[in-house]
Amino acid sequence: MSDKVNFETLGEIFRQNQTFALMSHMRPDGDAIGSVLGLGLALEAMGKTVHFWNVDGLPDSLAFLPGSEKISLPPAEAPDIDVAIALDTATKVRLGEGNLIAAAKAKLWVNIDHHISNPLYADVNYVDATSPATGQIVYEILQALEMPITAGSRDAIYVAVSTDTGSFQYDSTTARTYRMAADLMERGLAVGDINAKTYDSHPYRRIELLRALLNTLELSTDGKVAHWVMLDQLRIDLALKPEDSEGLIDMIRAIRGVQVAVFFEELPGGKVRVSMRSKDRSVNVCEIATHFGGGGHALAAGIRMAGPIAQAKQQVLSAIAAAVSQKNESF
Ligand code: 5GP
Ligand code: MN
Repeated sequence: MSDKVNFETLGEIFRQNQTFALMSHMRPDGDAIGSVLGLGLALEAMGKTVHFWNVDGLPDSLAFLPGSEKISLPPAEAPDIDVAIALDTATKVRLGEGNLIAAAKAKLWVNIDHHISNPLYADVNYVDATSPATGQIVYEILQALEMPITAGSRDAIYVAVSTDTGSFQYDSTTARTYRMAADLMERGLAVGDINAKTYDSHPYRRIELLRALLNTLELSTDGKVAHWVMLDQLRIDLALKPEDSEGLIDMIRAIRGVQVAVFFEELPGGKVRVSMRSKDRSVNVCEIATHFGGGGHALAAGIRMAGPIAQAKQQVLSAIAAAVSQKNESF
């Protein structure tokens, strides 16, 4: 199975079908919501009927995106649809069960993604692990197929790529990424305004969360690994929403000497979400995540694993310590 069909195959699918359901991973981030809106609003502008589904709905932090009110929970009963399209979703399971039930009548599944760990789970796959964000793939599809880039698609694509590249900083960012951003600006994107809405508009509880996390911060493996921990009680005490922790890990990734940053979050019911960032390609956190049933990218990966949190912490930190020590021995 090819990891990348050609754009024309996608064009045929878009032309020959009428009803589409666009979905992305649970606990959606900017790239998940932005890539769904970027493609979905373009399909709507072509006269198609589009459902926009996410099992966790739209995070408040992305409600400024035009058209984001179209994102809903998947319906309990499956409507008639022609094509189901998963965006930014490394495994089909990460769509969540609600989406799989709602999309049961799809005649065709399409998978558009940039995760290297993606196992190509659809009938038609377009997986480009060299792309810094699924939003950039959506932009390239719209360009190649001369699909309409409305103001809504333009803003959604920009936010998708900006959030997945740490504001165009990570080394996954390429000249094409900057050219895309320039083109979006030429199409009328208000760059200062959209960045302010994305990055300078956090609820106070996010900063209270940061204060609590800083109290749990620890360094290990000779200062090369930094981690912090969030217990479920804190979510209750501060009335936190899943998106409140988005991006906070970058604070500890930024410590001088740290090679890997880890965020352990206890989920309701006792499962644990692990978020990892590496600063160094020779410590591949996707490989570590995959070992525990997760996945992602070489420098940013995640896991959902069994608790209790103390045990998950011990297992993951020792796997990271082994990877970090191995890397440092080879020099
Ligand atoms: P984050 O740490 O921001 O939640 O996720 C970092 C990267 O790892 C993202 O690209 C995300 O899709 C991926 N990722 C996070 N959690 C999981 C998981 O539980 N399973 C898989 N396969 N990938 C994950
Ligand atoms: Mn992404």
